[in-house]
Amino acid sequence: MKIQGEIKGVHLQKNGLKIDFYVDAENEKDVTKHIFEYAKRPITIEILIDEAKVIEDFGTISDQQRKKIYALIKDFAREYGESDTELMKAELKGWFCEATSHPEFSLSNVSTEVAGEFIEFIIQFARETGYEFAFKEDIKDNEFIKLDIENQICSGCGEDGKLRSNKKGDKICLCNSCMKEFQTEGVDFLDKHHIKLVKF
Ligand SMILES: [Zn+2]
Repeated sequence: MKIQGEIKGVHLQKNGLKIDFYVDAENEKDVTKHIFEYAKRPITIEILIDEAKVIEDFGTISDQQRKKIYALIKDFAREYGESDTELMKAELKGWFCEATSHPEFSLSNVSTEVAGEFIEFIIQFARETGYEFAFKEDIKDNEFIKLDIENQICSGCGEDGKLRSNKKGDKICLCNSCMKEFQTEGVDFLDKHHIKLVKF
């Protein structure tokens, strides 16, 4: 039997724990029909987060979160000595899922909640592994920026990007939305994403 609902309360008891499980009106009839077959018998309950419902309630990852995650992954990759950021992303996601028992997810449509947890996880993980993150130093290696240019990846958010250059010959790869931000924010934008312009 599979029941959808919500944990409404957890109470410490003398010899254990009591959990209040709430089933809404929509599912109530179905549950009532079968629940008594299980009453007073030993049962095993596996609790899973209903990601679709979480997204419905809290919405999907924001652009800001995605940009932050991308910046963190790049910083982590540099400290870790991994030049392939896509691979680093996959590794970090894998470690996160393993540590939190979270099912696999995509950064394109994960919930804001999980995106927030993932950000926390990367920062925490970096601290524990002793990596002093580049976001303190504020600037990414030329190497990464060059790789972005080569792979046409936006250095701001990790989406598809386009090569941009100015008269001085500085180069950067950005998507349209990040380019707009860059045009309004200027150096602040570069600082925020730990990017610098490169010359070839
Ligand atoms: Zn972008």
